[in-house]
Amino acid sequence: MNIQKDAGPQLLRDKRYAFFLDVDGTLAAIQPRPDDVFIPEGVIANLQELAEVNEGALALVSGRPIAELDQLVAPLQLPLAGVHGAERRDINGKTECISLPDNVCGELAVLLGDALAQMPGTQLEIKGMAFALHYRQAEHYQQAICELAEAMTKRYPMLALQPGKCVVELKPQGVNKGAALNDFMQQAPFTGRTPVFIGDDLTDEAGFNTVNAMDGISIKVGEGETQAAYRLPDVASVHHWLNQTLLQLDQDDKSSVRSQGYESLSSRI
Ligand SMILES: [Mg+2]
Repeated sequence: MNIQKDAGPQLLRDKRYAFFLDVDGTLAAIQPRPDDVFIPEGVIANLQELAEVNEGALALVSGRPIAELDQLVAPLQLPLAGVHGAERRDINGKTECISLPDNVCGELAVLLGDALAQMPGTQLEIKGMAFALHYRQAEHYQQAICELAEAMTKRYPMLALQPGKCVVELKPQGVNKGAALNDFMQQAPFTGRTPVFIGDDLTDEAGFNTVNAMDGISIKVGEGETQAAYRLPDVASVHHWLNQTLLQLDQDDKSSVRSQGYESLSSRI
């Protein structure tokens, strides 16, 4: 595959695109505590404008629950896929969820809570239908956490493993970002457009594969093996690429209110 290292692709004004963006490590720098993560205001403004220029075909696709994603891009109300696609909200606000049986959720909460209590510095995050086992503050527990998560998938075959950066998640089988992207692409305003997906982590590889199969544009943030066709080095370069892409796609729209903000848009980044 044609890797254009550290540049990112240049989009074409005469094509119609659908944008899918991961959040942590892509739009927002990773922080020691997930609660401290934020998306800069100027980037949120650019997301809004990019959505407007593309008839609303811009969605966030994240491991975070939808409720947290709404807070991170407030006051925007974007189409969203949360918990790796287990939750999905379309452009009309209609939400679909893939859940686990209540008894399985209850048992997992107890089993995982007890196990992580024995590993100081690790943290259990319960996302409804998924469970994230964080070890960013206690990386020496990585192997123990992975073994625990694998044991749970054997005990509950409806669960699938989702490794990430300093986290292992247990989620319902069949839930992944590729499936979420595919669902969005079946619906307006995404359908018929060329998908563009940017992500930084292992969970994003399913999305890259889906986008590649649709002759779309896949962009990996940072280092590491990937199926993505393009690469951007870090979160700051994603912000810059989004800004440049907005200017490029909006170039024909000089009469609109949007074009009046060129200078301030550039300086906000
Ligand atoms: Mg990420």
